[in-house]
Amino acid sequence: MKQIYFFSEGNKDMRQLLGGKGANLAEMTRLGLPVPAGFTITTEACHEYQRNNNKLSNSLIQEIDNALIKLSKNTNKKFNDTVNPLLISVRSGAAISMPGMMDTILNIGLNDKSVVALAKITNNERFAYDSYRRLLAMFGNVVYGISEEIFDQVLTDTKKNNNYKSDIELTTEDLKSIVERFKEIYTKEAHKDFPQNPEDQILAAVNSVFESWDNNRARVYRKQNNIPETLGTAVNVQTMVFGNAGEDCGTGVAFTRNPATGEKNLFGEYLLNAQGEDVVSGVRTPQSIDTLQSSMPKIYGQFADIAQKLEDHYQDMQDLEFTIEHGELFLLQARNGKRTPEAAVKIAVDLVNEGLIDKKTAISRIDPESISAMLHSDFDKEELKNHRELTTGLPASPGAASGQVYFTADTAKEAHDNKHQKVILVRQDTSPEDIEGMVVSEAIVTSRGGMTSHAAVVARGMGSTGVVGAHELQVDYKNKVAKINDTVINPGDWISVDGTKGKIYSGQIPTSEAVIKGDLSILLNWAKEISDMGVYTNADTPADFQKALDFDADGIGLTRTEHMFFKSERLLQMRRLILAKDATGRKDPLEKLLAMQQNDFYEIYKLSAGKSVTVRLLDPPLHEFLPHDAKEIKLVADELGENVEDLENRIDSLKELNPMLGHRGDRLAVTFPDIYQMQVRAIINAVLRLKDEGIEIKPHIMIPLTDSKSEMQWVRNLVENQIKELSSDVEYQVGTMMEMPRACVTANQIAEVSDFFSFGTNDLTQLTFGYSRDDVGSFMPEYIKQGILPNDPFQSVDIEGVGELMKMAVDRGRQTKSQLPIGVCGEVGGDPKSIQFFDKIGITYVSCSPYRIPVARIAAAQATI
Ligand code: ADP
Ligand code: MG
Ligand code: MG
Repeated sequence: MKQIYFFSEGNKDMRQLLGGKGANLAEMTRLGLPVPAGFTITTEACHEYQRNNNKLSNSLIQEIDNALIKLSKNTNKKFNDTVNPLLISVRSGAAISMPGMMDTILNIGLNDKSVVALAKITNNERFAYDSYRRLLAMFGNVVYGISEEIFDQVLTDTKKNNNYKSDIELTTEDLKSIVERFKEIYTKEAHKDFPQNPEDQILAAVNSVFESWDNNRARVYRKQNNIPETLGTAVNVQTMVFGNAGEDCGTGVAFTRNPATGEKNLFGEYLLNAQGEDVVSGVRTPQSIDTLQSSMPKIYGQFADIAQKLEDHYQDMQDLEFTIEHGELFLLQARNGKRTPEAAVKIAVDLVNEGLIDKKTAISRIDPESISAMLHSDFDKEELKNHRELTTGLPASPGAASGQVYFTADTAKEAHDNKHQKVILVRQDTSPEDIEGMVVSEAIVTSRGGMTSHAAVVARGMGSTGVVGAHELQVDYKNKVAKINDTVINPGDWISVDGTKGKIYSGQIPTSEAVIKGDLSILLNWAKEISDMGVYTNADTPADFQKALDFDADGIGLTRTEHMFFKSERLLQMRRLILAKDATGRKDPLEKLLAMQQNDFYEIYKLSAGKSVTVRLLDPPLHEFLPHDAKEIKLVADELGENVEDLENRIDSLKELNPMLGHRGDRLAVTFPDIYQMQVRAIINAVLRLKDEGIEIKPHIMIPLTDSKSEMQWVRNLVENQIKELSSDVEYQVGTMMEMPRACVTANQIAEVSDFFSFGTNDLTQLTFGYSRDDVGSFMPEYIKQGILPNDPFQSVDIEGVGELMKMAVDRGRQTKSQLPIGVCGEVGGDPKSIQFFDKIGITYVSCSPYRIPVARIAAAQATI
């Protein structure tokens, strides 16, 4: 098995084998771009390593040796050479990019001898020892697990003792003594010396990169981003180029478009006389790439050309790493850049308009779930006036959020998990170790670092709010306190963060709603054109429906009329109705409820403007309407003109042990037919009233909880007789809610008496699993943790079980009526993964809460593509 590919042998389509970084280094080499020579050890070698009990096999070691010999021939440099020593980096790189999650070591090949040679050949002793101290720190951390802080402390102390402001002021003598101190740290912390032999260094480094696939932060990241554990990582071995060899050297990162807004211009940062991670780690505040245009115009021009070339080539926004060595430009990495949801949408639309991609490609690049992040939040303008602006930093990731401040990932996570607090992580800077705390935070704030710092990149990636480089903020980890000028912030204090403007405010500020406009609305229209599935809304009130219409819902898939009954005044009438002794007693409350329902329906129909509206007749168990306490019972008794004791007896007789499996849905229709009759009257009266106003409505009436054809037939007769009593020329449909396993099995029969189906996946899931959906909290988390369930089936449809029943119902229903419209109106109707499945089994439309509509719209289009 070939376990090593030189960059010149690979290409961009080999990312499974070479990892993303390796495949793109190969592709750039193929395109003739200036990439330092090197080779990639494959992900298959990583699997082999894992099978071999986490040891490098002899055959791999042999292949690495051969590759190094070839590399030294190509570069005219040699390991251990006293004239021109070969130095390399060992870089991790999985098939799916996991920025900063795994390890990389630079300057491998340096030792006590070659450092002298490097100083001589470059005529730069300071540079040579700067590189050496970096190798010692990285190698010590990655290979021997010595804490970075121990090495950092030595640097900090040296700077402090000499009154230096930054690393560049360190002298050659300082660096030499730092190198000695670092070696002592090895002895003290790891009881081992730094390996002087470059071959030993590289093998240990490769071993550690393979091992780093399994470190905690990488595992958390993979879980968070649904990256399979089985992928493994490749390892890249690459000749070093030096950004830290003087003032005509530097290193930087840049995006071909702005990753926060999507605007088309080079966006990035660089540092002169610096190496590798200096830019992203926030140790020094980098300069904007724009200034490179004036300081190194030739390099800037060359870089801008390459950036454009790569974007055209990959047809997507690129995230690039580069290094300048004595006025010569090198590319070290290219990948599709992470971006905010806003930027993702703008870039997708722009690329279509620029003719680089088509609409389907544009839509397929959008993560539907991320759209929901675009739909909330800006601070309420009026409320904002009552809050003090504390300071401003860089607007790293847009959005607005309030939360309680914590200074460490652990305490933030603790407050979130155990105290259910909304938390904001406030730090000097963040590193990959903080990932678990960042995941749970509403917002991330740092005092140091730039727009491409770790904190900024991660916040954008997660779609959470972020402000970085807020210089007035001082975080004192030791005393667990932060200060912004005169304001003292303790753990647990509330602050508010505006990631769009980069501002930080004191206290908690309510956020206001977003509207869909601009590029998002263009993209959603394309999605609508492309998809063959409708997106309806579940809306119980005119206000909900209006919101859904603003989000361009195709209609209402479910109006739950019971929500209208639980308002206090109606509840009283409902109680009078179900507790009345006889039909005469029911008359007055029925009339009152009729008037109110009629108005509800009128308003909703009026808004609908031709879009279809499906009203579901009353479903909740009678039990839920019963008065509980003495005061409520007395009130109802008075209204009914009865004594309390009689009423209490009747209440007892209506109480149920399993209300959700009891007296509800069409069972209620059979025992209390006048309730459904009243609702149908309300619907038809509303329709007739609108007809007078010149608006034509074709009501869709949905019957919940149906088990069988005979039951559906019975309720259908009830409904139709009532309609006919009121009018002979209303066009209507009466359909079934599919939520009983028995109904799915007998769907061919039920279809004979139904004009449409709509899956109520909540009840269907509840009854298929036998889980009471109101009680799952006591065991579901454990089931997911133990891997018994892959996820909560109430949030994402259980394809194997519930999904199979749905498929059966669709197939059998359409055996009877080939054109039967079939919707889904449960919680999972707005879940992208479920939507994918629904499209496959031929669902006509999904229906979800107003805020999920844009998410569902994109998912529906992706399912169609
Ligand atoms: P990550 O996956 O964390 O980005 P990288 O492997 O890209 O890790 O390397 C970390 C840093 O080191 C980057 O800034 C990269 O550009 C720099 N670097 C890696 N290899 C070399 C090299 N051969 N010469 C110069 N700089 C390098
Ligand atoms: Mg990188
Ligand atoms: Mg139901």
